[in-house]
Amino acid sequence: HIDTPSVLYMDGVSVSFDGFKALNSLSMFIAPGEMRAIIGPNGAGKTTMMDVITGKTRPDSGTIVFNNQHDLTRYDEADVANLGVGRKFQKPSVIESLTVFENLEMSLKGGRSIWQALMHRLSGAQKEKLDEILELVNLSDRTHHLAGDLSHGQKQWLEIGMLLGQEPQLLLIDEPAAGMTDEETMKTAELFKTLAKKHSLMVVEHDMDFIEALDCKVTVLHEGHVLAEGSLATVKANPQVIEVYLGR
Ligand code: ADP
Repeated sequence: HIDTPSVLYMDGVSVSFDGFKALNSLSMFIAPGEMRAIIGPNGAGKTTMMDVITGKTRPDSGTIVFNNQHDLTRYDEADVANLGVGRKFQKPSVIESLTVFENLEMSLKGGRSIWQALMHRLSGAQKEKLDEILELVNLSDRTHHLAGDLSHGQKQWLEIGMLLGQEPQLLLIDEPAAGMTDEETMKTAELFKTLAKKHSLMVVEHDMDFIEALDCKVTVLHEGHVLAEGSLATVKANPQVIEVYLGR
């Protein structure tokens, strides 16, 4: 499709619901190892954008290419995940009655039932990976605590750790900072900067302090397409962006 290496290439993607264009010729390019923040008012199309990338919604038209080779519009959700696209919804979905360790253990074994997963032993390499993830997501001192006893922020980190077990190349993360304390929010920004050394990230977020801490390129969505793109300072100074956020 294109010569430049890209993790995600979207061109002219449109989706209508009963004649209403939730995405209206959306185009975007995410480079390998790039972190991108996505902002935009309610109804801008952020969720629909993640739905079309992950195969949950099929676009009416347009191109979505993963890794310069896979046409994602042809795959369903499970296949997109297997290709290496991890999605984190806003609400954490950890298993509260299992420990942090057991939740991670299950994610590393993937696809089995809880009981099969708990009976199955981790390989040496998987154990190392699990320790690495625990360290990365700031949960080493909570290894044997029940997930249900974690703070909201810690549950979000655990779920991100569980996604990492699948070794995704691209992570789509929906409003991670919502409901977090200021300290958790800043630790999450640090975590994402570390993750961006190995993965590409798309982070949908409303919290401007968090986005500032991410220190990455920002895309502003409005009415299903890209209204502005650039540093946070640049898009904040854009008259059209100001109009969209303040002029309503
Ligand atoms: P955001 O996540 O930026 O708030 P959404 O992608 O959820 O925006 O929604 C974009 C627009 O599409 C909204 O006006 C919403 O009402 C509409 N929409 C989203 N999903 C559906 C659906 N399944 N059926 C009908 N309308 C939808």
